[in-house]
Amino acid sequence: MKAQVLIIEDEQEIAELVGLYLRKEGVETIWADSAEKGLAYISEGLFDLIVLDINLPGMDGFEFLQKFRRDSNIPVIIVSAREADEDIIMGLGVGADEFVTKPFAPRVLCARVRALLRRSTIFSGEDRKSFSFGPYELDYDGYNIKKSGELIPIAVREFEILRFLVEHAGVVFSLNDIYEEVWGQEFGDISAVSVYVQRIRKKIEEDYHKPVYIKTIHGKGYLFDRELLT
Ligand code: CA
Repeated sequence: MKAQVLIIEDEQEIAELVGLYLRKEGVETIWADSAEKGLAYISEGLFDLIVLDINLPGMDGFEFLQKFRRDSNIPVIIVSAREADEDIIMGLGVGADEFVTKPFAPRVLCARVRALLRRSTIFSGEDRKSFSFGPYELDYDGYNIKKSGELIPIAVREFEILRFLVEHAGVVFSLNDIYEEVWGQEFGDISAVSVYVQRIRKKIEEDYHKPVYIKTIHGKGYLFDRELLT
């Protein structure tokens, strides 16, 4: 399962454009053309991020944020044509995580979405100390994995890559993203990432030619299947 992004925007053209670009980033999008509908969707489903317009018919983006923030800390990116809105948001302290001004470059919005999804783990708030999938469990203390309780030796880098993907299950990361995150450097031999992913697959996948846990998203990178977390 991929990360879910809710787009609250009354202009269909903009909503479609945002949706198109975000889906290319490997996330799923749902569109609400009003804040009221947005709140209704939120009460029914789990979202990882919200892209929010300010000028909306009925309840506006500010009101939405104030209501929404009472019981959620899901990241919100405001997309607004009014630059002055940024000051208002800061002043109100209503808890937007990012601000993008219309007209915006889709690449800028996508980069912010990626960065926010990366920063917030999908399980934030639960503060999980261990993750399991299939017969496997990540052993944080020992930097190992356990299969049905039995220790499986895994290199530190392999563990770190696996942990990063598992903690952000559902989000696609490029080789560059993973390299930066795990090696802590911006530049280097990013092909090492594929080598490590192959090694991890050999340890956890039944058939590493047909991986089910760590999926390759062609032209994008890797994603850990969120539905397989237990
Ligand atoms: Ca609008």
